[in-house]
Amino acid sequence: MKKYLVFDIGATNIKRGVLNSEADILEKEASPTPQDYKVFLNVLREDISKTPCDAVVLALPGVYSSKSGKLLYAPNLKGITGRTVINDLSIRDKHIFAENDANLAALGEYHKGFAQKPQSLFHLTLGTGVGGGYISGGKLFSGETTLMQVGHITLVADGRHCNCGKRGCFEKYCSSGALTTFYLEGSGNALSPTEIAQKADEGDFAAFAAFEMFGLHLAHGIASIINILNPSAVRIGGGLSELAKYYFPSVLELLGDMIFEPYRGGAEISTAVLKNDAALTGGAIWAEECLNC
Ligand SMILES: [Zn+2]
Repeated sequence: MKKYLVFDIGATNIKRGVLNSEADILEKEASPTPQDYKVFLNVLREDISKTPCDAVVLALPGVYSSKSGKLLYAPNLKGITGRTVINDLSIRDKHIFAENDANLAALGEYHKGFAQKPQSLFHLTLGTGVGGGYISGGKLFSGETTLMQVGHITLVADGRHCNCGKRGCFEKYCSSGALTTFYLEGSGNALSPTEIAQKADEGDFAAFAAFEMFGLHLAHGIASIINILNPSAVRIGGGLSELAKYYFPSVLELLGDMIFEPYRGGAEISTAVLKNDAALTGGAIWAEECLNC
């Protein structure tokens, strides 16, 4: 059975995993992401050279061009924006593939997160940012550049300023920072999502209100996605899916009227099964597909 080395490259940590052809995780660890590009390349190079594997996959945070091999846009990881990472690694004796992290997470959840696979899946990743991936008929819906960057669809006209330069992006209302901002507006305190959840457990009204506003915007975002794609399933993954019990019931309730009438009841909507391993898992499936195409 083949072995794949997958790097899930985030703004603060690189998760690396060794997986088999079935996308089972055999080894997994995390280390801080070097902010200097040369150091970053050396860390990957050293790991690749000492790990026996049939292919390497890079799950990249941002917009990746499969045509030029360049990471076109990664606002949370400026050091590698504009770089052609695969070329710069200069490794000749191994297959190396790259794709957007949220797209790979969708592929992972689709193949390993269902007892019975749906016809199509939209997988939403809620964390530092908001990412998405769409799988139809078992295949990742992709183009020459990364698609499904739903974090930057406009949710609020003339709303909050986003890192991308636009205003009112989905990401500014349904990421970790967005939840912190909702709580800050209601309480005057800047807390992390986990701390806000603790406050909600203690009966803090501002914490309930923050989750309510988060859920309201999330429902609008999910409804917009369903109204375009009408997928068979929608899954909510990423770090904030761990706090789903604080906002997810209200999202399901609100969605009823927000979904285009003929599409109502069409999508099974739930939290993701794979959670933080989704991109590693999807990476192995991607390697398998790339080697066979
Ligand atoms: Zn944006």
